[in-house]
Amino acid sequence: MLRMQMQQEKHMKKQKKYRVLGPMASVFESMKTGSWRLERPKVEFSQCSKCGTCERYCPANVITIHKEKEECVQFIWDYCKGCGICANVCPKDCISMVDERGEE
Ligand code: SF4
Ligand code: SF4
Repeated sequence: MLRMQMQQEKHMKKQKKYRVLGPMASVFESMKTGSWRLERPKVEFSQCSKCGTCERYCPANVITIHKEKEECVQFIWDYCKGCGICANVCPKDCISMVDERGEE
């Protein structure tokens, strides 16, 4: 019993050491999550204010804003999983989710 308690305490100490502080955006390079996608984001560039909100909220970290370019929002298609968060958070409502196979 005492041994079990000691093991539990040791495990808890270890967990505290490696405590996860919050969600992290990352590109999982070992898995091309783009193959999961049923829909993809499409940007109406003329409406975009280049605010970067979509870039900050994308959980897969696949959006880059290029303020100097006309097509200012770029995606890494191999890893965008089509979750639609970018479309939901865009304050200009200029991202729409379209069918991945081109059927709208
Ligand atoms: S959130 Fe919308 S307006 Fe802002 S940069 Fe992205 S697409 Fe453009
Ligand atoms: S749909 Fe938008 S938020 Fe979701 S992974 Fe693709 S780019 Fe990121």
